[in-house]
Amino acid sequence: MYCFNCGKKISKRAIVCTNCGAKVSPILPPRKQDILRDQRALNPILSLACFLQPALGMILYFIWKKDSNLRAKAAMKWSVAGVGIQITVIAIVMVYVISFMSVFNITYPL
Ligand SMILES: [Zn+2]
Repeated sequence: MYCFNCGKKISKRAIVCTNCGAKVSPILPPRKQDILRDQRALNPILSLACFLQPALGMILYFIWKKDSNLRAKAAMKWSVAGVGIQITVIAIVMVYVISFMSVFNITYPL
């Protein structure tokens, strides 16, 4: 990279310019600290809570969306997964109930 002050080429890891001594702020990946915090923030218990109770995950998503986007997305991801599983379970139960009702009607017609 180049010094913003004197324009001389300097080391990527330089803290101060070796030519003019101007402070060079190290370039970190965007919001790396925030990302790490977000990953820790949504602990497994909370993930499970969102999974089992998707409404909670949706609420948390809107609460966290403003200041912690990744944590909000994690909550939403678990909620969507939870909704998916619940719809699947309901669909399977309904298929069984309908099958049972069909059998019931054939065996014992009113
Ligand atoms: Zn410089």
